[in-house]
Amino acid sequence: MIEDARLIPPGTCLEADLCIVGGGAAAISLALGYMKSGRSVILVPGGGPHQTASCIDLYRGKVDPPGSHEPLEENRLRMWGGTTTVWGGRCVPFDPIDFEARPWVPGSGWPIGRDELKDYIAQANELSEAGEADFDARSVFPETQTELLRGFDNENIVTWPLERWSIPTDYSKRYRADLEAASNLRVLLHANATHLQMDSSGTTLRHVKAACRPGKVFQINAKNTVIACGALENTRLLLAARDILTEGIGNKHDLVGRYYQSHCFGVCGYAVLKDPFKDFIYDFEKDQAGVYCRRRFWLTPEAQKKHQVSNVVGFFVRAVSGESEHRNAMVSLVLLVKTLLGGAKKGPKRLSQIVRAQRRELLTHLGIVLKDGPSIFRQVAAVVYTRYFQKRRLPMVLPSKKANFFPLFFQTEHAPLWGSRVMLDDSSVDDFGMPRLKVNIRFSEVDYRTIRTFVSLFKQRIEESGIGTFHLSEKDKEYLAHPERRSFNSNAHHIGTTRMAVTADAGVVDVNCKVHGVENLYVAGSSVFPTSSHANPTLMIIALALRLADHLKSKD
Ligand SMILES: Cc1cc2nc3c(=O)[nH]c(=O)nc-3n(C[C@H](O)[C@H](O)[C@H](O)COP(=O)(O)OP(=O)(O)OC[C@H]3O[C@@H](n4cnc5c(N)ncnc54)[C@H](O)[C@@H]3O)c2cc1C
Repeated sequence: MIEDARLIPPGTCLEADLCIVGGGAAAISLALGYMKSGRSVILVPGGGPHQTASCIDLYRGKVDPPGSHEPLEENRLRMWGGTTTVWGGRCVPFDPIDFEARPWVPGSGWPIGRDELKDYIAQANELSEAGEADFDARSVFPETQTELLRGFDNENIVTWPLERWSIPTDYSKRYRADLEAASNLRVLLHANATHLQMDSSGTTLRHVKAACRPGKVFQINAKNTVIACGALENTRLLLAARDILTEGIGNKHDLVGRYYQSHCFGVCGYAVLKDPFKDFIYDFEKDQAGVYCRRRFWLTPEAQKKHQVSNVVGFFVRAVSGESEHRNAMVSLVLLVKTLLGGAKKGPKRLSQIVRAQRRELLTHLGIVLKDGPSIFRQVAAVVYTRYFQKRRLPMVLPSKKANFFPLFFQTEHAPLWGSRVMLDDSSVDDFGMPRLKVNIRFSEVDYRTIRTFVSLFKQRIEESGIGTFHLSEKDKEYLAHPERRSFNSNAHHIGTTRMAVTADAGVVDVNCKVHGVENLYVAGSSVFPTSSHANPTLMIIALALRLADHLKSKD
């Protein structure tokens, strides 16, 4: 059942076997997995089917130092469906090496291995409508060449690993009918958890306080509760419950909010190929079920070990800079539209300033667009159709090979650091009186070494194989010398703040995602990941949520 919680009278006590706090991929997957048991579930999604200004405000917080992270209300959707309402759909599992304790990556090592998650990864892929959980181009596309660039792969970098793309599935829409039809499940739209109430011993969660409007509180008494609110809000709920445990729940060892990770991303350098039209699988490929897949450059575990670096992948992307050297009509058109529309939004005076300041560059872009003539309009029409009018959306538009300009995007693991942290900001509260968050994200030498090593091995390989050349602009060189200076955006990858460990002095949750020291409180989401891999987090979030559903079903 899906109902409007605004109709629940304040003071009401609701009962259930399981209370799930959150309404995103983690919460919905968990509900889908658990509700088959026939036991009762109440799901508190933290919002309704649309984002509202007051929901956005609930996510505001502080970034310390200012500008070192995107504003906390960006990249997160406080609503039913959570961030799956806007996600891109890239599905990538963690690699076996991600679970290993690697002496050169401080804080690495999971208490479970990848094998234990194999079946759950397959189920997560299915729920995300991303096809079979086969991420190896050699078996998915046996008829085509195995490498992204023929002759490229060596002991350092291989290109058979695939990423798969979800539709992208909006979990709140895709599974609405199933949730609506389940008589043992109640989704309380518009309800927010405002407090986790422990019993006086501090070892059992007594109830969850919830409200749709400030002051109109009702409560949910459940045998077990799972918080699945994203890594930042999971931390906030635990830390803000200080009435019984003054340090917050699960925080006896000062670990809640620590080891905050994301990924290091960026574009650095570009390749020029000897022949971009030969032996080069550049575009998305569709598997037998019609799922978009793409090959990536992956630094092998052997190379990671040899060079003492973290896990990392790369792929070619469209040019993101405003520089016209790429000579690609589509990219130039996008840049022209963005610059002129952006300026126009700020008023005619600002627009004319922008045009005057960037006149030469804008004219060059216009020339590139006009030179491509009618073909650009055909390209635009094709892009609009495949991106917006098909059920399965083309993940992204790659510029034509004609420009022979292939910028290299990298995405690296972010090594966990005790000092990289999400805390409460006691100087400010939200509408429900909950303290807001403050984040202080940090990176270390292993992160920077990983970027430099990957770029350098990539350049070395593409040139020694004779496939092409690789070029670094002055800006790229400056970046590689001082990666810490580039501004950071998490791209919604918030990881590690309630890490999993066997013992309470090493992590916040145990191997079953139960908060150490608390009988009946669990955590779902990327906050439990001890390390971040290079992989986008959602597939693993869903896999772990499904595993948790099985654990809870076996518990009582
Ligand atoms: C533009 C964009 C593109 C992305 N693309 C990809 C991609 O291609 N691949 C990938 O793997 N990931 C991608 N992501 C990230 C991905 O969306 C998230 O990793 C994933 O959705 C997280 O799921 P979650 O359920 O853990 O958290 P969320 O989706 O953040 O959901 C949290 C839920 O908790 C609720 N909540 C919060 N506080 C409370 C409270 N106090 N009480 C009750 N409920 C509460 C919220 O309303 C929400 O429903 C993308 C993100 C963005 C923004």
